[in-house]
Amino acid sequence: MPSEYTLLITLAEATKLLFVIAIGACVGSLMNVLVYRLPRGLDIVSPPSRCPICDTRLTWRENIPVIGWLLLGGKCRFCRARISPEYPIVEACIAILFGAIYAVWYMLPRGWGWVAWLRPEWATNGLILTWPMLLIVLTLLSCLAAMTLIDAKTRLIPLGLLWFPAIVGLGLHASHVLVFEARGLELRHTAPGTRWTIPLAGPAGWWWVGASIGGVIGLAAGNLLIGLGLIRRSFADYDTWEKQALEQEAADRAEQAGSPIPDGENRSGAVAAEGRAIPPDLSDPEAQAELWIQYPHARREMVRELAFLAPCVSLAILGGKLAQHLAGPWSPDLMYGLEPAHAVPLWLDVIVGSLMGYLIAGGVVWGARILASLAFGKEALGLGDVHLMAGVGACVGWIDPILAFFAAAFIGVFFEALRAILARRVRRTLAFGPCLAMGTALVVLCKPGAEWLLGMILHRTINLP
Ligand SMILES: [Zn+2]
Repeated sequence: MPSEYTLLITLAEATKLLFVIAIGACVGSLMNVLVYRLPRGLDIVSPPSRCPICDTRLTWRENIPVIGWLLLGGKCRFCRARISPEYPIVEACIAILFGAIYAVWYMLPRGWGWVAWLRPEWATNGLILTWPMLLIVLTLLSCLAAMTLIDAKTRLIPLGLLWFPAIVGLGLHASHVLVFEARGLELRHTAPGTRWTIPLAGPAGWWWVGASIGGVIGLAAGNLLIGLGLIRRSFADYDTWEKQALEQEAADRAEQAGSPIPDGENRSGAVAAEGRAIPPDLSDPEAQAELWIQYPHARREMVRELAFLAPCVSLAILGGKLAQHLAGPWSPDLMYGLEPAHAVPLWLDVIVGSLMGYLIAGGVVWGARILASLAFGKEALGLGDVHLMAGVGACVGWIDPILAFFAAAFIGVFFEALRAILARRVRRTLAFGPCLAMGTALVVLCKPGAEWLLGMILHRTINLP
C-alpha cells in the first residue's frame, strides 16, 4: 500500500536525521574537550573527562552530550561544583547545525522555494555521490566553532585546529575524485563552469596545475630556508622585546613610587605616568594584545615575511607558465578561446582546485596582512588568520574564502561598533579569527541563496519578458 510505503520512507529519513543530529552532539562534545584542553596544552585523548574541582570521573551516562549535563542538573555528582552550561549549549548548537545542514541539503523536498535557494547545486546529486563534501563542510564548521571559542577566550588560535580542515579537505577531495574516476562516475549537477563541488580551473586550466605545484614547492623552500637559518622566522625576537618592555615598565613604576613628585627631566617616568599602557598583567589576553601592537618592528618583520613568500610566488608564476607551455600546442576553440592538445583530467583538476583554494585564500589574507602592517607599522591580522583562511580554501575552493574575508570585515566593524555603543569604549585590537569564522559560515551556508537572488535580479533586469 502506498501510504505504508510513505510512512516507511518517512521513518527511515527521520532515523537518518536523528543519526546525523546525534553525531553532531558527539562532535560538539569533542569540541568542548578541545576548547578546554588545547589552550592548556593537555592531552586530547586521555585522561577521560572528569570534574575539574574534585577529579571525579564522569560515568558513561554523564558523558552523553546534553543529556548528561541535564541528568546532573548542571552540578558535579560528588562535590556539587557548578558545571558550565556552555558545554551543553555548544553540543546542542553543533547538533542542530549538523541536522539543519543535512535536512536542507539532502532531505527536504526541492519544491519548497527556500530549500532550493539554500541547497548548493552539487547537493542535488544526492548523499551517496556527495557525502565526502558534506563531511568536509561539517568538519570545517566544527573546527571553526571550536577555534572561535578558543580565540574569544585566549586570543590565540591553536595551529593544529587550522591544519586539520586543510588536511581533511585536500585528502577527502582527492580520494573522492579518485574513486569517481576508478568507477567512471561523475557529478551530473554542479554549479555553472565547474565539474565538482568546488570551483575548478576546468579542462583548459593547465596554468593552475603548474602554479599550484610551483606554489607548494615554494612554500616548502621557504620553510627549508627557515630551517637552515638562512632567513629568520618573523617576530622571532618578540619574546625578548616583551621581556625588556615589561622590565622597563617595572623600573618606571619603581622609580615613580620612589619619588612621588617626578621632576620634569624624568622623561621615561613622565611617559609611564601618562598611562602609555604597557600592561603589567599578561595573564589577561586583552593586555597581551595591547602589548603586542606596541611592538615597534612590525614593518621590518613584514620584509622577512616577503622574503619567505618570494620563492612561493615566483615558483607559482614560473610553474604556471611552464605547464601552459608543455600542454600546447593550443588550438582555437569556440567555447574557451584556446584549447590545449590534452585536457586536464578531472582528478588532477580537483586536487589542484583544492590546493589552489589553499594557496589563493591564504595568499589573499597574507597579502592584506603585509600591506596593512606596512601601512600602519603595527601587526595587522595574525598569521593564524592566514592559516585559517587557507584551510577554508582547501575545503571549499578559492572563491568562498575571499567573499568570507570581506564579510568578516563587515562583521568585525559591526560588532566593534556595537561594543563601542554598549561599553562606551573602543578596543584598539580586534579578535579577527571569530569574524573570519562567522563570515565563512555565512558564505558557505547562504551563498546558494545569494546567487539565486542575484540571478533573479539579473534575470529581471536583463531580459524582461
Ligand atoms: Zn566535582
